[in-house]
Amino acid sequence: MSILIFTIYLSIIFITFILMEGVAWFLHKYFMHGLGWFLHEDYHRSSESRFEKNDIFGLFFAILSFLLILTGFLSGFDIRLAI
Ligand SMILES: [Zn+2]
Repeated sequence: MSILIFTIYLSIIFITFILMEGVAWFLHKYFMHGLGWFLHEDYHRSSESRFEKNDIFGLFFAILSFLLILTGFLSGFDIRLAI
């Protein structure tokens, strides 16, 4: 792997990380503490319960990620390009 390709991959990883954290911050501040408060509220309160309504957010984004990866895979995207 050339230094140029390595630098491009490293830049993609870094930019993805920054954007992902920005989106997570934005969603937490403006959606979860806004419209999604009825699901997110129990996350900020102590509870003995094993599950919280807030877990729905994690489940939603896990399913969304799975579907996007599956869609890319079924469309012929070579997953080795992402590694
Ligand atoms: Zn919160």
